[in-house]
Amino acid sequence: MQYPQSAYIHIPFCSSKCYYCGFVSTVNTKLKTAYFFSLLKDIDTNYHQNELLTLYFGGGTPSILPVEQVSKILNKFKLSNSAEITFELNPEHANLEYLEKLFNLGINRLSIGIQTFNDDILNKIGRKHTSKIAIDAVKYANKAGFNNISVDLIYGLPCQTIKDFEYDLRIINDINIQHVSLYGLKIEDNSVFGKKLPANLPDDDLQADMYLKAIEVLKKFEHYEISNFALSKKYQSKHNLNYWKNREYYGFGCAAHGYENGIRYANSFDIHKYIDSPLMKDFGHTETEHEKLQEEIFLGLRIADGIDINIINEKFNINFNEKYKDTINKYKKSGHLIQTTKGYKLSNEGFLISTIILSEFL
Ligand code: SF4
Repeated sequence: MQYPQSAYIHIPFCSSKCYYCGFVSTVNTKLKTAYFFSLLKDIDTNYHQNELLTLYFGGGTPSILPVEQVSKILNKFKLSNSAEITFELNPEHANLEYLEKLFNLGINRLSIGIQTFNDDILNKIGRKHTSKIAIDAVKYANKAGFNNISVDLIYGLPCQTIKDFEYDLRIINDINIQHVSLYGLKIEDNSVFGKKLPANLPDDDLQADMYLKAIEVLKKFEHYEISNFALSKKYQSKHNLNYWKNREYYGFGCAAHGYENGIRYANSFDIHKYIDSPLMKDFGHTETEHEKLQEEIFLGLRIADGIDINIINEKFNINFNEKYKDTINKYKKSGHLIQTTKGYKLSNEGFLISTIILSEFL
């Protein structure tokens, strides 16, 4: 049996809760030690000791962990010599000593949650850093030796104008980073904003203009996925490409999702329950062939290269052009879907309405 070659590890602790956040995380950091031991048990039991190509520490806030714990987690895994090991970092946790220690452990990619360089907006969304702290975080990361750094930006934030967002993008062009992930703000029901909507939220049209502005300004980056930009192929997120290519992966930690042996699963969403019973799953579902086909199209069309219909036809024993002819014709005509030598891809305008288009393929 082929075991997954990627693993995600969820660290569900944060020093405070950002107002837009709907992720599973807690500010009760007293649970950290108990959680750590449960996480090790989860890994010891469910990891098959096979070699991994990517490992991703996400959260929550992994940078809340002491280096000793990060090291103990890392030592649980067999990693290929060229493995991509990503660590999510909050700018306020970036000091040179911590980053140097992470680098010396073998972590070779940082994902820094900057969100915006506008201090007023950072305050409005409940982030604890300032733009100066964010820029210093990138400088410290460079100094510590990291040369594969990704930055998260959010657009559509309260009171954000297109000029504000363009300012963020221009700074991104000027700092020494290799990758950008862009997210349009979505109001999650279980977030502070979900309970009380903030004033002056950009509408959908303005969000769409911001997205197109990003594509225009981030010219030095290759727009390789709907929300992701990399300086070159070398800096594309190998871990996320594994998801988008519909390959399997381990999920360790509370609320982590995994996909193994055709089964999609999620670990317990409740931190207390996870600490008590780290091997308990909240759900597990064996995918049907039809669901696998849907995932393949849904994920494949997120990538700028799009889908290869010969691979899909062979894998699922279908005639893609015949099965989806109405949807293909409709969106080719409107310019949202483009025919490639291998199959189809979405245009930039197609990315903007991808949810609608993809739902018609499903
Ligand atoms: S956005 Fe990230 S840092 Fe902020 S509360 Fe959510 S998980 Fe924590």
